[in-house]
Amino acid sequence: MKNYDVIVIGGGPGGYVAAIRCGQLGLATALVDEWLGDDGKPALGGTCLNVGCIPSKALLDSSHHYHNLEHLLPAHGISIKGASMDIAIMQSRKNKVVKTMNRGVAALLKKNKVEAYAGHGRLQAGNRVTIAIHGGGEEVAAAKNVIIASGSLPVDIPVAAVDGQSIVDNAGALAFDQVPKRLGIIGAGVIGLELGSVWSRLGSEVVILEALEEFLAAADQQIAREALKTLRKQGLDIHLGARVTGAKVTNKGVSVKYESTEGAKALEVDRLVVAVGRRANTTDLVDADVDLTMDDAGRIQVDELCRTSIDGVYAIGDVVKGPMLAHKASEEGMAVAELIAGHAAHIDHRTVPWVIYTHPGDCLGGGYRATTERPGHRLPQWQLSLSRPGTGPRCRGNRRLGQNPGRRQQRRDPRCAHFRRPGLGAHRRSRHGHGLSRQQRGSRPHHPRPPDALGSAARGGPGRGRASGAYVGAD
Ligand SMILES: Cc1cc2nc3c(=O)[nH]c(=O)nc-3n(C[C@H](O)[C@H](O)[C@H](O)COP(=O)(O)OP(=O)(O)OC[C@H]3O[C@@H](n4cnc5c(N)ncnc54)[C@H](O)[C@@H]3O)c2cc1C
Repeated sequence: MKNYDVIVIGGGPGGYVAAIRCGQLGLATALVDEWLGDDGKPALGGTCLNVGCIPSKALLDSSHHYHNLEHLLPAHGISIKGASMDIAIMQSRKNKVVKTMNRGVAALLKKNKVEAYAGHGRLQAGNRVTIAIHGGGEEVAAAKNVIIASGSLPVDIPVAAVDGQSIVDNAGALAFDQVPKRLGIIGAGVIGLELGSVWSRLGSEVVILEALEEFLAAADQQIAREALKTLRKQGLDIHLGARVTGAKVTNKGVSVKYESTEGAKALEVDRLVVAVGRRANTTDLVDADVDLTMDDAGRIQVDELCRTSIDGVYAIGDVVKGPMLAHKASEEGMAVAELIAGHAAHIDHRTVPWVIYTHPGDCLGGGYRATTERPGHRLPQWQLSLSRPGTGPRCRGNRRLGQNPGRRQQRRDPRCAHFRRPGLGAHRRSRHGHGLSRQQRGSRPHHPRPPDALGSAARGGPGRGRASGAYVGAD
């Protein structure tokens, strides 16, 4: 039986970042991941890289270029007659981006002497892990420490069962081989809005059905109202207070039934995307005699340093409490690796930003505050509606670019870092500390964004430098 200092179960942005950091800190590390790509080969990077952050941003990018041809460039006097979109080429570009990054993660693991197993890992008593290797065979390995980073899965709803063809989840909606004429989406959350934006820009009539009466309930209502107005203007037909009661695949597409304030309604679409949220993935994760405590929401229960109910077993990312975001998973992975290596570690969920990559994008983050607008809710300390992600709040400049100037809302709080320059490279900087250490201030950019790579570069050794700090400094 092989022995390691650390075994990581799950190779998403939580798991692979943790494993690489463990390797850099001189710990004998193994990583087990079960993801297989469309070609049936191991594809490291988890949800984020295979069916999440990366492919969605690749398609948002392609569709944005196409949309600009029609809607932005004519105002500059540029007209291109007969522009067309080849979906097969767009999808193959996206697949290439994903494959390149799958290979990049594998190379980084190798470089940092992390042993990668392709297969399903299950935790046994005594911090042993059974690995059912893809292609056959089983191995058992032991470790002083185990990090569980098994991520999340889309939530299914019985009234609209995913068949992978007509009714799909996020993975299916990222792989359409043609533009659906009419596309239905259940859920106006981040994923529904991003996917809706992609296909609407390419010509779909997109109808989004959201059960809640309130749009973007986690956001400040002024920003949410403006975002709703803009997205509707862009063509997203968003219905609030619309609860889907049934969806039936027909020979023409999908027949959807829903209840709204106006009573029972029906909708015919070519394809339907179910985007109602994600749940922790604990499928066949632990043996029956392993006493791993779960919380009420089915996630692995952890303390403030991601320690579970079992000594030497940690859990990070989407499988534990907190926002389901790649940079949050990575940050927890880094912290746990450093803790295991004997360093001090700190995780502060109060400053995790999140972004909706629509156009304009909405960017929220900072500490959370109670609100009198909606008793019982806690809203982010700062938020921003970006007119042009990547250019930052040079709002008047954006007006010159013929775009919505954007809006920033910021509420000062002693625990909340000062927000300086949002955009694709959004990050926060505190002039006076505001209670955050230098490391904390520089440590939590959102993802994906170009300087992600800088993060990896600066962490490329056993030192404790945080790359995003370096980026902030150079800004
Ligand atoms: C469409 C979409 C867009 C998104 N966009 C963004 C974005 O722009 N920015 C952002 O920050 N977040 C985004 N997210 C969320 C982000 O993808 C997740 O928060 C992130 O991937 C969580 O990382 P993780 O490491 O916890 O888990 P995952 O990425 O889910 O990885 C878990 C891995 O563990 C493997 N695994 C599970 N169980 C086992 C087992 N027992 N044995 C072996 N392997 C196992 C899985 O196969 C998977 O490879 C998006 C998600 C979606 C769906």
